[in-house]
Amino acid sequence: MKKIQRLPAIDGELGWYETSLLTGRTGGTRLKGKHQFDVLVIGAGFSGLSTAGRLAELWPDSRIALVDALRVGQGTSGRNAGFIIDLPHNLDANADPEVDKKVYQLNRFAIKRLDNIRRQNGIDCAWQKAGKYFAAHEADNLRHINSFTRTLNGLNTAYEVIEGNALQQRLGTGYYRKAVYTPDNILMNPAALAQGVALALPDNVTLFENSPVTGIEYGNPHRARFLGGEIEAKTLVLSTNSFGEEFGLFQQRLAPVFTYASLTRPMSESLAGRLFPDIAPWGLTSAHPAGTTVRLTPDRRIFIRNSFSFETSLRTDPQKLERAWQQHRASFSARFPELAGLEFEYTWGGMLCMTLNHQSVFQKAADSLYALSGMNGVGVAKGTYLGYYLAEWIAGRDSDQLDFIRRNNQPSWVPPEPLRSVGARIRLHYESGKAAGEI
Ligand SMILES: Cc1cc2nc3c(=O)[nH]c(=O)nc-3n(C[C@H](O)[C@H](O)[C@H](O)COP(=O)(O)OP(=O)(O)OC[C@H]3O[C@@H](n4cnc5c(N)ncnc54)[C@H](O)[C@@H]3O)c2cc1C
Repeated sequence: MKKIQRLPAIDGELGWYETSLLTGRTGGTRLKGKHQFDVLVIGAGFSGLSTAGRLAELWPDSRIALVDALRVGQGTSGRNAGFIIDLPHNLDANADPEVDKKVYQLNRFAIKRLDNIRRQNGIDCAWQKAGKYFAAHEADNLRHINSFTRTLNGLNTAYEVIEGNALQQRLGTGYYRKAVYTPDNILMNPAALAQGVALALPDNVTLFENSPVTGIEYGNPHRARFLGGEIEAKTLVLSTNSFGEEFGLFQQRLAPVFTYASLTRPMSESLAGRLFPDIAPWGLTSAHPAGTTVRLTPDRRIFIRNSFSFETSLRTDPQKLERAWQQHRASFSARFPELAGLEFEYTWGGMLCMTLNHQSVFQKAADSLYALSGMNGVGVAKGTYLGYYLAEWIAGRDSDQLDFIRRNNQPSWVPPEPLRSVGARIRLHYESGKAAGEI
């Protein structure tokens, strides 16, 4: 049996999880004792939730186990910025307009699927069709705005270009020169959405939380080991993000990049009324890929995300959290000088599982052994549609979408350690330098 040594950890103060109204409700037990299931899905982020959910619909008589080392909402899926992005994004951009069109359709499909689950089950996750600003501070980065509008023209989708004073009135900060606003992006509390999706899973899915897999043996059946327990299953799906490497599959494909986020305390109603008069909650991504993501949330908090570190341990540490906190404070003060007294209540880190060519792992590794990983920073939509179509593949259902996904998800090779770390750190340093005032 292969030992699994690098395990997920909490990595800071998980703001979305702690403020989610669904925390404590998912009810998955710790796995103890011996169990047999038809399917075992390891990893209950958006990818695993979607795979288990769709497979349960396709195979209503099967018994499916969904396990996670943490509680649902504590993994990266509950730590992100809470954008469900409909359009191809700078972390996931493609050179080919035809590919962009298909990705756009798949993203829209994922949004619709999550929205249906949310509506049918009354999931309270602060879901809003708030749109998204793609914004530049530096004159130098206006070219990224122009290239984004070219992509949007190719997709024939609606957008607005806003600058100067008009932009300041929409955002409540004068920091940005120019932005492209696209209307169909969703903003939400990602921990609450993941928890809600878990609560809505069909009855033939059994959820085990706080249950790290500590050993794995592939075969017929596959066997997964836990502290004081074991699962045997005919079919195994790994949806473990960067931890997939630990399971001995898809070596030399992934780059585990940590990025960091902070969430302030809520502003008082009067302060928010003064600084953001008649301004609806908004979300903004930077025109530069290494720039800062910012949100004004419905409960009057400011969210900031930036800073990267490359972590082969698949964990971060207090020093890196401290460095990120300092950068977040600087980025926050530059955008909202009037809010100098507003503290961050939470600061945390999470892993963007990157691949070199931005394609994901979507793979049948052996008989009844499947894996999906490498969501390249857009895993809410991508994990949802890839998980859905992975389930269709497992159940033997063909479609054009599945064909497209299989053809376009072949991550390229990355060099072994220590070259991978050296290369990644140089690249992150270079990109952060170029992003300048966008951070
Ligand atoms: C700060 C930040 C901001 C981001 N912003 C956005 C955004 O706005 N929109 C967007 O779409 N994406 C965003 N992303 C990326 C997004 O969060 C990821 O792409 C997404 O979470 C990937 O989902 P997943 O299900 O594939 O992986 P994960 O969410 O990481 O799920 C994998 C699960 O596997 C579990 N696991 C791993 N090993 C084991 C084991 N041995 N035993 C049991 N369980 C195990 C983990 O605990 C984890 O819960 C952001 C990421 C970060 C860090």
